[in-house]
Amino acid sequence: MLESRPARRPIVVSGDRAPRVHLWQQGCQMNTSDTAQLAEQFAEIGLVPGVALVDADLAVVVTCAVRQHAEDKAASRIGELARWKRERGGRAIAVTGCMAAEHGPALLARFPAVDYVFDVREPDGFFARIRDLYAGALEGPVPLPAGDQLCAYVPVIHGCNEMCTYCIVPFVRGRERSRPQGDVVADVGRLVARGVREVTLLGQNVNSYVDPDAGGGLADLMAAVDRVPGLWRQRFLTSHPRNASPRLLAAIAALPTACEQLHLPVQSGSDSCLRRMKREYRVATYLRTIEAARAAVPGLAVSTDIIVGFCGETEVEFSATLDLVAGVGFDVVHVQAYSPRPGTAAWRRADDVPLAVKRDRLQRILRLQRSISEARNRALIGAEVEVLVEGHGADDGRPYGRTRQGRVAWLDRSASVGELVRTTVTGASAWQLLAA
Ligand code: SF4
Repeated sequence: MLESRPARRPIVVSGDRAPRVHLWQQGCQMNTSDTAQLAEQFAEIGLVPGVALVDADLAVVVTCAVRQHAEDKAASRIGELARWKRERGGRAIAVTGCMAAEHGPALLARFPAVDYVFDVREPDGFFARIRDLYAGALEGPVPLPAGDQLCAYVPVIHGCNEMCTYCIVPFVRGRERSRPQGDVVADVGRLVARGVREVTLLGQNVNSYVDPDAGGGLADLMAAVDRVPGLWRQRFLTSHPRNASPRLLAAIAALPTACEQLHLPVQSGSDSCLRRMKREYRVATYLRTIEAARAAVPGLAVSTDIIVGFCGETEVEFSATLDLVAGVGFDVVHVQAYSPRPGTAAWRRADDVPLAVKRDRLQRILRLQRSISEARNRALIGAEVEVLVEGHGADDGRPYGRTRQGRVAWLDRSASVGELVRTTVTGASAWQLLAA
């Protein structure tokens, strides 16, 4: 899909140089991965990606539609870009991502400054148009900025076949389409050659991955990725609880590169609420899965997503969620207040939990989880952890990175970016570790 204004004139870039692109992105890891992919495609046809807005000729907005707040933020960004565009002739704005899939050409009517709206899943028409418009200024592929990237996202499955009643993803990202295992492994090999040491295999429902060629599942894909020389770590996001199979758990335990981390969104601790959300599991089965995962993978970190204030959520149902959070003892909980999305099944239900109640419930989960995270992190004092150094603090230059379980750790020694350090935890707070 490509929608553009018919009267768009060829673009005259300023100065004697290749046209430049500023990419702005919001939302989930899939958008991060899509943005990186777009940068590569721009470089292939001769535009320089990843420049500051002030130097850019084309601004691309990769949007999120999962919450109303995200759409509002994208609208405000487009407003800022409209002013940027007026400052100099020849500038253009393109919008893609989930809002483009959801609203299509209506975005051109809503935002007069936008020149192109395209589907990030099918960008060929957009790139063909850009190639035509900038033809006079293109001189073949340009190099991507030097790879200082240690960690990268690799999409392995697009879309989702579940129909959780609150979720817009199946409508904007479509049905599940797994990528061939060989393509994913080739992508990982290419990233490793550019210096990447850790990959996160991505999908909205990543553990329903099925290789379209050989029929293998996510465990088989992880085994193939594990064999890529030079890769140190792999993770995967986001899983559906009903697809967390024993085989997948065994793969996390057995593969040297597989990190001991499982993100398993529960959304609610109440069966009646899960039924209204059309989450196809119950609290008891979820708890059994967590138990099995912890038994299979020593030292496993478990995180989850929770929605508070879903349609009709009672105080009793919410208390069940608090009980679940306290009982499981997650390492990290991402909590959001329910936000109705047009077109979803829940849109037809009354959004009847008042905002003040949603906010109060959100804070109660956060307070509880803060004490749990702190206790779990403090229990690690004295333990040995492996840290992949990702950078240095702006204030004191101390190196920081992530453990295999995904915890942020600050090191009390010198270490270079890209170094893998084995060290001992000396201190902890709710959100980070200190290490020797
Ligand atoms: S499994 Fe996840 S992406 Fe799929 S419909 Fe449910 S919440 Fe949305």
